[in-house]
Amino acid sequence: MQRHELVGQFKSLRLHGMAAACEELIEDSIRRNQSPDQLLESLLKAEAAERNVRSISHQFGAARFPVNRDLDTFDFAQSAFNEAQIRELYRGDYLDQARNLVFVGGPGTGKTHLAIAMASAAIRTRDKRVRFYNVVDLVNQLEAEKLGGNAGRIARRLTGMDAVVLDELGYLPFSHNGGTMLFHLISKLYETTSLLITTNLSFSELGNVFGDAKMTTALLDRLTHHCDIIESGNDSYRFKHRNQASKTPQS
Ligand code: ADP
Ligand code: MG
Repeated sequence: MQRHELVGQFKSLRLHGMAAACEELIEDSIRRNQSPDQLLESLLKAEAAERNVRSISHQFGAARFPVNRDLDTFDFAQSAFNEAQIRELYRGDYLDQARNLVFVGGPGTGKTHLAIAMASAAIRTRDKRVRFYNVVDLVNQLEAEKLGGNAGRIARRLTGMDAVVLDELGYLPFSHNGGTMLFHLISKLYETTSLLITTNLSFSELGNVFGDAKMTTALLDRLTHHCDIIESGNDSYRFKHRNQASKTPQS
């Protein structure tokens, strides 16, 4: 079989990693006098590496992050976050017990940035399945699926996830119905899926969001049972940098 036919065969068997690497690996193997076993091993490694990259990029697409954010672009010196706590959590052990992370603080303090960074690390280093939602969008989708007679579909999909980001809890109050649906969803995810929640509200203020004291108490009980609370203070990074930019003379 000719070399290009070999590549074609690999492709038709969907062995794209082998197809891409085989010419180089064969040449390499001849040059180094390798045994056939060694060549086979490097071909398998190339295939495994390619599949890993493809699966990660698929998971990033499925996560639907609104922007890409990671830890290497986060400046801890400009933030009230506890760097040691963040770096520890970034390793991802919280995912093993489906613990929750709650990022609490004022607007512009990096909560969403870090929630996305954490969730991205879960995909990249732990092979986890993640989904990002703005809370208001999620509640709207829950209401829409109920109206459409499809109640439960989102919940079923999300129970298959390892982590779900719920961004901006508390920025807008829900209708009573919306609050109840979110409550049921969070109850279903309890102890199977990690929730990464960002909020500008303290726990005592969350009652106003759900509009029902009993439900809020039950919800907080579930959320905080296995939970790390991560505080970002009130000093807006955006605001600080806007001030800095305006103080810097134009050149
Ligand atoms: P929040 O969700 O708390 O309102 P964001 O995470 O959206 O804040 O942060 C606002 C913007 O500022 C984002 O573009 C984010 O990447 C950036 N940002 C916030 N804090 C930092 C920081 N400490 N280092 C670098 N960028 C930051
Ligand atoms: Mg945010």
